[in-house]
Amino acid sequence: MRFEVVAFLKFGFFASALLLSTDLLYSWYLRQKNRTPRLNEVNFVMSNALPCCPHTADVEVIKKCRNPHCKAKLSRKIIEQIDSAKHLICIAMYMFTMRHMADAIMNAKKRGVHIRIITDFSMTNDHSQINKLQGDGIAIRIAGNGDLYMHNKYCLIDVLTGETKFKENTHPLNGVLINGSMNWTTNGFERNWENIIFTSDDHLKSEFKRSFDYIWSRCA
Ligand SMILES: [Zn+2]
Repeated sequence: MRFEVVAFLKFGFFASALLLSTDLLYSWYLRQKNRTPRLNEVNFVMSNALPCCPHTADVEVIKKCRNPHCKAKLSRKIIEQIDSAKHLICIAMYMFTMRHMADAIMNAKKRGVHIRIITDFSMTNDHSQINKLQGDGIAIRIAGNGDLYMHNKYCLIDVLTGETKFKENTHPLNGVLINGSMNWTTNGFERNWENIIFTSDDHLKSEFKRSFDYIWSRCA
């Protein structure tokens, strides 16, 4: 009788241990399966880099370029992120004069992506892309007044924190933040020393989105 009780207890112990380890293994598998991919990279624009591809060069030509400081590769990276947007693009950009960036934004609008752009008062001139984008129906708000500047340079792709309008974010990285020193101008991409970060970090995305929404709500 005593032997049977011990055997039963042993069986119970091993069965529980087996169930527990299976459960732990299964939850680890689910975490791996549903893990959001990560993007964290910084790019530097080197003022003295040798000139190679123009920004308007064919995508395949830019892909094959071996210059590690190819400036067209960086503008392609930003355009690829704009092209990947499915729901919402929020841009806060002090200076915006690059035409092929504006073209990518218009293409996104045609795909049904919501676009919001905050820019500086100084961009309400014909040299910038802002008037053209506004004329094409893009929602633009102006901050700064000529005395103080809206000096941010960031772009949020499908960062939907706080949005109730969209039930699901299908962006492969659940949104991306592009931020750095660079304006979207020829000088920014071609002549200056600049840095630009691409990240899918949830905390940073949410903080930038909160800041964007605040400025958006404060200007007309
Ligand atoms: Zn190149």
